[in-house]
Amino acid sequence: YKAKASGDGFHAYGGGDDTDFTTQLRTVDELRAALTSGQFVLHYQPKINLPAGDVHDVEALVRWNHPTRGLLYPDAFLTLVEEAGLMRALTRVVLHIALDQAAVWLAEGRNLTVAVNLSASSMIDTDLPDEVAAMLTARHLPPGVLKFEITEEFLMADRDRARDILTRLRLHGVQISIDDFGTGYSSLSYLRDLPIDELKLDRSFVTPMVDDARAAALVASTIGLAHSLGMRMVAEGVESAGAYDELVSLGCDQAQGYHMSRPVPADELNVWLNARGSIGELTAPARF
Ligand code: C2E
Ligand code: MG
Ligand code: MG
Ligand code: MG
Repeated sequence: YKAKASGDGFHAYGGGDDTDFTTQLRTVDELRAALTSGQFVLHYQPKINLPAGDVHDVEALVRWNHPTRGLLYPDAFLTLVEEAGLMRALTRVVLHIALDQAAVWLAEGRNLTVAVNLSASSMIDTDLPDEVAAMLTARHLPPGVLKFEITEEFLMADRDRARDILTRLRLHGVQISIDDFGTGYSSLSYLRDLPIDELKLDRSFVTPMVDDARAAALVASTIGLAHSLGMRMVAEGVESAGAYDELVSLGCDQAQGYHMSRPVPADELNVWLNARGSIGELTAPARF
């Protein structure tokens, strides 16, 4: 891997520049150990259906339960995971945890679709669709239980390969969401020819929409765009009742954000879901 860490989070561990490299070497060793010893855990954040307020979907967000440094967030380790060539392994670990949890939820009568984030480097991970299919089958999971959130960056490198991977995933009943929509540099043309179920508008548009008319206009037109293409529209970064209400009145399909719930461990999410009394159905794929 490269000697320089580019992720901001990395410097949180290091002292000065001299110690960065040694710290990084140690951290890569720790990463390898963490992958096989259950130190990675998932927190789940609900995506609330609008306007009903029930929940059919949750997003899985990885955390590293580090033995000495405590709970680390993705910004603190994902860059290093990429640089150490360990993203493929982390994706497997995350998928196993997420699908085990999905199976537990189903057994409890909670039909939740779990969304897993896929890094742009997973574009070269051409075995992924078949492995995902095997993981679903091994757990007797129905189609519709898994969704991937990918960024536009994932689609940019090689459109044909992206189409191949996404089409194969969708054949196995896995849905596709475009995360951080509106912040990528790619043209919108991929929306025409790739099998996408959902657009997730970046929180930089959503969080300020109550006070910022231009942000609100972009939210409104993205909802129109998604719906005219037969896709669902999700707003992330909903931090206020004002934003929530405005999303309802604009016809947004789902809202996700600190105003409703932070990402929390599964048992905490269960308590939250019980308090809301929502069980729900698995989300249906987009029709196009
Ligand atoms: P993302 O997929 O866009 O996830 C949304 C991030 O925003 C999460 O940060 C979440 O905790 C945070 N968030 C949720 N609601 C709000 C809100 O109302 N306000 C604000 N300010 N933030 C909110 P987190 O968990 O630190 O994850 C950061 C990024 O790390 C994710 O962005 C995703 O790109 C990546 N990531 C997380 N888990 C995984 C994973 O398992 N695999 C991969 N490859 N990437 C992951
Ligand atoms: Mg995401
Ligand atoms: Mg996002
Ligand atoms: Mg984001």
